[in-house]
Amino acid sequence: MRLLNAAVIRKELGRCQTGALLLFLDYDGTLTPIVNRPERAKLTKATRKILASFSSDSKKAIVVVISGRDLSDLKKRIGIKGLIYVGNHGLEMEGRGLRFVHPRARASRLFLKPLARRLKREFAAVAGIQVEDKRLTLSIHYRRAAPANVVRARRLLQRCMNDVGKKSQICLKHGKKVWEIHSGISWDKGDAARYLEQRVFKKDKQKRLPIYFGDDLTDESAFKVLRRKGLTVRVTLKTQEPSAAQFYLRNSAGVRCILKGLSRGTPKGGKA
Ligand SMILES: [Mg+2]
Repeated sequence: MRLLNAAVIRKELGRCQTGALLLFLDYDGTLTPIVNRPERAKLTKATRKILASFSSDSKKAIVVVISGRDLSDLKKRIGIKGLIYVGNHGLEMEGRGLRFVHPRARASRLFLKPLARRLKREFAAVAGIQVEDKRLTLSIHYRRAAPANVVRARRLLQRCMNDVGKKSQICLKHGKKVWEIHSGISWDKGDAARYLEQRVFKKDKQKRLPIYFGDDLTDESAFKVLRRKGLTVRVTLKTQEPSAAQFYLRNSAGVRCILKGLSRGTPKGGKA
């Protein structure tokens, strides 16, 4: 991975012969810094202002906010019209005339709902564990748990999943200090990014440079889909770790700085 700067973007825009962008932005850890409690991850005024400026000029950019969060939670946190919101790692999408729920996701609610209830009950006695019911997926956050409690929680979770797993295709994915429970549907952020890229392209026929910013393992599938079509950017301090992203930025402040440059037109500064 190489550090992303304005000159790289200028060069890529020139190569694509376009000034129009399709920006994919993950939320936690990308637009906002990672915080102890997910409910406290808030957009800064400056970032909100930049996103709002994009929303008023779709010729310049179409913005997709893509997250593991529940769609309604994501929309509430950002609250800007004219963006496309993607929740639950791509299982649901909304905005700019689009309304999508993965056809198999709704049915999974039948077993995710009782599982969420059971997990909340079981984990009530384990300090630092937070169960979040996001309807189409579940998250178990363990950032605030002591190491011994993480081990205990992992064992408990496995037992609960084994009980439900017999009746469903439930599966577990790992994020940053979070376990994500999915209903086994083979559809991730990469599939959602491909779907949107093709849809947007078909709709406005304008050539757009896709740029994807994300910080977590769940963003890797999208990096793989978009790395040959545009720019893929991992937000990380661990720049030696393997990633399908071509570029990196160190934190959400770095992302904001790049977005600000893009919102003002062709970004200035830096060496390619
Ligand atoms: Mg993230």
